[in-house]
Amino acid sequence: MPYLTAPEALGDLLEDEPSYRVDQLRKWLYETPVLTAEQMTNLPLGLRAQIASKLWPFVTEVEQRADGGATRKWLFRTPDGASIESVVMGYPRRTTLCISSQAGCAMGCTFCATGQFGFERHLEAGEIVAQVAYALAALRSDPMPNSPDRITNIVFMGMGEPLANMDRVEESLRRMIEVMKIGARSITVSTVGVVPGIRRLAATPWQVNLAISLHAADDELRTELVPLNRRYPIADLVAAAREYHDAKGRRVSIEWTLIDGRNDTADQAKKLAAIARRLRAHVNVINLNPTPLTDDRPAGRSSVERFMDALAAAGVNATLRDTRGQDIDAACGQLRVAQETTIELPTQAAATTQKGRT
Ligand code: SAH
Ligand code: SF4
Repeated sequence: MPYLTAPEALGDLLEDEPSYRVDQLRKWLYETPVLTAEQMTNLPLGLRAQIASKLWPFVTEVEQRADGGATRKWLFRTPDGASIESVVMGYPRRTTLCISSQAGCAMGCTFCATGQFGFERHLEAGEIVAQVAYALAALRSDPMPNSPDRITNIVFMGMGEPLANMDRVEESLRRMIEVMKIGARSITVSTVGVVPGIRRLAATPWQVNLAISLHAADDELRTELVPLNRRYPIADLVAAAREYHDAKGRRVSIEWTLIDGRNDTADQAKKLAAIARRLRAHVNVINLNPTPLTDDRPAGRSSVERFMDALAAAGVNATLRDTRGQDIDAACGQLRVAQETTIELPTQAAATTQKGRT
């Protein structure tokens, strides 16, 4: 399958074809991606038929839309049955694609749907890159209502812990940046705190952005929410993030999912502010998207306001992110949970289409 193959190895798949066909195929796959072989107009019909079933390393099992078409979510299925989720979110001046790096996740964060589901397997570099190519092609054939048709930002914030799958994530970054010509500065890798992975990312030649999912500002609470904190406590994580900042000259961001009664307190806001100032980090606060498998609730409106005010008063740059696509379970791993357990989807407002692709 082409997407499981490095762009440089496409020639092996087109053994008897002249070399310019390899360039043509690479363009259709990596540079101006299309969804079907029929759209590869400069390839002979016979060749199109031959590769038609090999275009994507997965089938599209579900496509859901919300927010008037400005949020689209895909659940893909690989031939071995693994699930992959991607979400694209359109805003007036940017279009952000959220991609997965693993099927499931082994980190077990208590509030996260993916964490609750457990680890299935690592995604191959080709499976990571294919999510980007698929979204590019889908947006070209069916543009967003009021946002750029091209993808302006890519975030590794779907399923999985990217820095626990570093070999393949690094190769996927290479293909995106060096083959697809996507700017490294428009890509963000989000980690829950795999410290050696942060150091490895720092050693790559690319100016990729780093986001650290902190969620708690002292080790006691963080270990409850994020079990990996036992292995890499806050001080080590912050030191690695600081090194990343110094190595790349890029501002690191801190992700904070607000959970009612847990990390929405004045004490946590104060400790978070101290960490953010030390890192010169921007803080992205997102209120919890409730998942079916825990009792955790989002913070109430007044405590969200108090939390944001406390950060601002402490001189910290912070943004409250909207929870996009709640009616299609757009939070990390949620679509998959809804599909694979008997829990019902709240589908009232979401237009759901089922599509098969081979
Ligand atoms: N494993 C990486 C990247 C994927 S998770 C990481 O944790 O950073 C991406 C983001 O989604 C994380 O910041 C995580 O905290 C957030 N997230 C997970 N579950 C969520 C939920 N139920 N509601 C809101 N945000 C959630
Ligand atoms: Fe894994 Fe990130 Fe979810 Fe934690 S928040 S379980 S690291 S995907």
